[in-house]
Amino acid sequence: MALCPDQSLAGAVSVRRTNVDRVVQLLRYGPASRAVIGERTGLSRATVSGIVNDLIRSGIATSGPMVGTRNEGAGRPTQVVALAEHSVRSVGVEFRWGDLFVGIADPLHQVVATSHHRHRRGLNWRDRAEIAIEELRALCRESGIQSFAPQGIGVGVPGPVTNDPLEGTWRPAIRLLGEEFRAPVYVENNLRLRALVEASAGSESRSETVVYFHVEDGIGGGIVIGGQVYRGANGAAGDFGHVTVAPATKPCRCGRSGCLEQVANLPALLKRAGVSRGDRTTAELARLPELREELERCATLCGRVIGEQINALDVSHLILGGILAHLDDHALALFTDEVNKRIQLPTAATIRISRSTLADDAGVRGGIALVRHATGAPSALMPFTVRPAIAAPESTTVA
Ligand SMILES: [Zn+2]
Repeated sequence: MALCPDQSLAGAVSVRRTNVDRVVQLLRYGPASRAVIGERTGLSRATVSGIVNDLIRSGIATSGPMVGTRNEGAGRPTQVVALAEHSVRSVGVEFRWGDLFVGIADPLHQVVATSHHRHRRGLNWRDRAEIAIEELRALCRESGIQSFAPQGIGVGVPGPVTNDPLEGTWRPAIRLLGEEFRAPVYVENNLRLRALVEASAGSESRSETVVYFHVEDGIGGGIVIGGQVYRGANGAAGDFGHVTVAPATKPCRCGRSGCLEQVANLPALLKRAGVSRGDRTTAELARLPELREELERCATLCGRVIGEQINALDVSHLILGGILAHLDDHALALFTDEVNKRIQLPTAATIRISRSTLADDAGVRGGIALVRHATGAPSALMPFTVRPAIAAPESTTVA
């Protein structure tokens, strides 16, 4: 059967990507000559040459004489190819309501280091960006990074992100980051980034429908259909926190009131339980006996709301993040019962409900994956259509 042009092109891209990955995997063990690369991977001389030249051109690899070999006779010393070291290729930043995470990745977009900073809720966006810049510079110093010229910065922000990445209150932060590091900035909702990392971390088949549901300072999540994040017509898909569940009280940030987020987010639980957050992590808070009753109430209410919302989606996997990732078995059972009461067969018989197993820096990893995808680097698996908020300027090296 003949392939249609699109299929054959997709197949060629896929084969090329697999070949690039094989070369890169080999170089992870150390420098190798082109001849050795060909021998070990079984690729032809021309294919190896094309791939290696691309890797060198894009700063992922370098080529030079093999260290420790002598130039015997009139022949040139053996030239070997090695992965570029001590340089940053992509940056991930996740802004949340009261804190931020940053991370740097090497020339292969593998995460080198991440860090976390808590700040007061409602801090202006310029100050948040300045903290992120300072944290990134500190990470580079600590990691012995010599060259900091990122190809892009992937940023996760709370709230809807439309197709115009600068249409949001975070605009000053995006501009500042782009100007500081002279790199394009890619923006996406932070929980959608986490949803995609969650869906790709598990062994989900590409045809699965995965919902990621996150409760922390904000409540939201993401819907991943067949390996792609669904953004919605206005970039608001997955904003599960703004369903009315209580009588109208003070206005919610969405403009209405009585929203799930106002009643069941982490600050609301802490306030009702009379617990102050201090420096404790979300996992540590979830283990406090004083918070147990509130967490069980939150699990029940959240199960009810998310169950109603996903009923028509025929979801195969529901992943719980934030404080819900740390529910004990009893609270998780309360949540699951409420969901199961609201979804129909056959979904109810097949849905998997599980706690997220990823670390708190999953949003940063999503940001780095956003850059990797946008720049078409090897192993690009990010099924997003991404547009930079700031056009790519010339990159620069920052000491
Ligand atoms: Zn609301």
